[in-house]
Amino acid sequence: MKDKIYINYGKNLIKMTNDLMEKAEISKYLKSDMKVIIKPNLVLPSPAKNGATTHSEIVEGIIKYLQTQNITDISIAEGAWVGEETTTKAFKVCGYTDLSKRYDVNLIDTKKEETIDYEIENTKFRISKIFQETDYLINVPVLKGHCQTKLTNCLKNLKGCIPDKDKRYYHNIGLHKPIALLNTILKPDLHIVDSICGDLTFEEGGNPIESNRIFLGYDGLLLDSYCSKLIAYNPEEIEYIKYGVKYNVGKLFDEHTKIIELNKNHKPNKDNKDFIKSKLAKELERYVDENSACSPCYAGLIFALNKIESYNKKNNENNKIRIGQGFKGQTNNRNLGIGDCCKNFSKYVKGCPPSGLDILNYLKLLD
Ligand code: SF4
Repeated sequence: MKDKIYINYGKNLIKMTNDLMEKAEISKYLKSDMKVIIKPNLVLPSPAKNGATTHSEIVEGIIKYLQTQNITDISIAEGAWVGEETTTKAFKVCGYTDLSKRYDVNLIDTKKEETIDYEIENTKFRISKIFQETDYLINVPVLKGHCQTKLTNCLKNLKGCIPDKDKRYYHNIGLHKPIALLNTILKPDLHIVDSICGDLTFEEGGNPIESNRIFLGYDGLLLDSYCSKLIAYNPEEIEYIKYGVKYNVGKLFDEHTKIIELNKNHKPNKDNKDFIKSKLAKELERYVDENSACSPCYAGLIFALNKIESYNKKNNENNKIRIGQGFKGQTNNRNLGIGDCCKNFSKYVKGCPPSGLDILNYLKLLD
């Protein structure tokens, strides 16, 4: 069970979430008298479309699924970034105050909760007591870039379960080891990852990159190592993943991991009029010739281009990278193609979609 990752593509987030939970048969692990906590990422009061916070529609999909299993004790718990009232503001701005009223679920600001003390590897932790009292913890992070740790996703999202003072302290001592150790204490039962439009580089958003997918899995380390590749990082570049392996937090993604995709032939297209165009992505687009590209494919290319500055400088704008279903069946001896749609090109990156890391590695070869 633990070595599976489920992926769903689309735009209807409530349905996508429900379909993932159905497909993974989550009901097998639930009982109606369970106390369930859902932990989104509400790092700051900023709407999800800006790339930093969890879409409330995904949490709504989870709540609806839980309620069809007759579960009534459901809470959404978060402790936003430092500041007395930040969590309350984030609940409001991100749509969670409204959600809690509509579905009669509790909202918990973890900053106001009692904590329990732990000490592991000479590192002290205080963790909100509510997480130890729950029967089923669902972690709902956003897959996005991070200015300090490069990636933020499942493992790092649990930082919202500790007090502000400790968050500052962990930032000062380097974050990576405390993140991994925190995940040896708190072990979510389920992870549902929001990869709808996570930010290119920064945890507070501003440059959302539309990918229109949601992941479901049981092992946060497995998901983080898989997702790091999608945004053009080798898992070995992420220090907290290496610590996670050392402290047996989970397993790394490898060829034995089973990937189960829903709607893989209906990935949302970049051509739709609502497609988010962030400033940094627009700058990188001058190297791209796009024709009906799927958003997760396009996102991988943008994440890769963002990491390879020298290529950006040298690349001839008349020799643009081609991506999209519009290039299916075409031959080409000059341009690099991205994804299986370009399989008749003499140079192309395999995959549907290829990961950002695969694209990056190919660009480096050409550089
Ligand atoms: S290879 Fe083609 S079909 Fe596959 S994700 Fe990319 S653009 Fe879409």
